[in-house]
Amino acid sequence: MLPLEALTRAGSEITNYGGSGMSVMEMSHRSKVFDQIFQDTKAKLRRMLQIPETHEILFLQGGASTQFSAVPLNLMSRSGKADYAVTGHFAQSAAKEARKYGEVSLAADTSAKQFTAIPPQEALKLDPEASYFYYCANNTIYGTEWNYVPETGAVPLVCDMSSNILSRPVDVSKYGIIFAGAQKNMAPAGLTVVIIRKDLAGHELPYTPLMLTYKTLIDKDSMYNTPPCWCIYMLGLVLDWIEEQGGLVGMEKLRNLRSSMLYETLDSSKLFHCHAEKGSRSGMNVTFRTGDADLDAQFVSEAAAAGFSNLKGHRSVGGMRASIYNAMPVEGVEKLCQFIRDFDRKH
Ligand SMILES: *Cc1c(COP(=O)(O)O)cnc(C)c1O
Repeated sequence: MLPLEALTRAGSEITNYGGSGMSVMEMSHRSKVFDQIFQDTKAKLRRMLQIPETHEILFLQGGASTQFSAVPLNLMSRSGKADYAVTGHFAQSAAKEARKYGEVSLAADTSAKQFTAIPPQEALKLDPEASYFYYCANNTIYGTEWNYVPETGAVPLVCDMSSNILSRPVDVSKYGIIFAGAQKNMAPAGLTVVIIRKDLAGHELPYTPLMLTYKTLIDKDSMYNTPPCWCIYMLGLVLDWIEEQGGLVGMEKLRNLRSSMLYETLDSSKLFHCHAEKGSRSGMNVTFRTGDADLDAQFVSEAAAAGFSNLKGHRSVGGMRASIYNAMPVEGVEKLCQFIRDFDRKH
């Protein structure tokens, strides 16, 4: 979901942004009026996430998946090897891609446990010579989330935050690279945000494609070519909305409220079981099932008829998934909890 306030504001400006006589969709990315939007949005994101001056913000295209390639291409040259914590589908895809460019060792692999839990720090197999340590902060499909920041010493941390960025404060200074496809929790599809410690750029492998070279993208302030202008503008409106809700501390309170209501409802039911183990549960994607595939399908179809969209779980997990991103109103979660209790009683 996107905040209704942001959509309404975009609607009101859609044909004539700030008296410019044109839509943001029509502007040259090099125009003065768009440059203002671009710089303001960057500044707002820097303020909200308290991004230190050591780090640069990039507004790119290609989705989070393109970063699966960009990360090893740019960072692998340090030692030719990297550590990957495979705790779900997207981290697994990233590790597979990185193997094309260097030696990947699995610092963790929870696939044998159907990705139900996040490994504790003590269980991580860390190589002090790794070029970087890679993990995915929130496993969107399985509904698990890292509730700590891994300690890796001098090895730079690289993190895919596509599905939980802006949902709570984060200490950006601990990270080498944070990246996120914007479409889960920030803006419409088409924008990828990369936050990178500047000294990590400039060491790319010689065959790194131009458009994946962080150094070039930093030097050109994300404008080597046309950036996704409309999505950057939308991100600005979403950041304004977050600010009005109390910033990231406000988002964290709402996130905890929404997810605890759902987990308590599921835990106290007789019928439903959560996929994720306690302690590893996601605040953004709540995965659950009855254990009976037909009953799960009935739940999803009755829920859809009652107005609850997108509750079907990912095909690799089955069951149900309630995605409760920043813009999901608490009222929506209250109504879903009531629906779950009624279904539990009936069956
Ligand atoms: C959705 C998702 C992706 C894939 O994002 P694209 O922008 O579609 O490439 C990667 N990682 C995580 C954690 C996701 O949730």
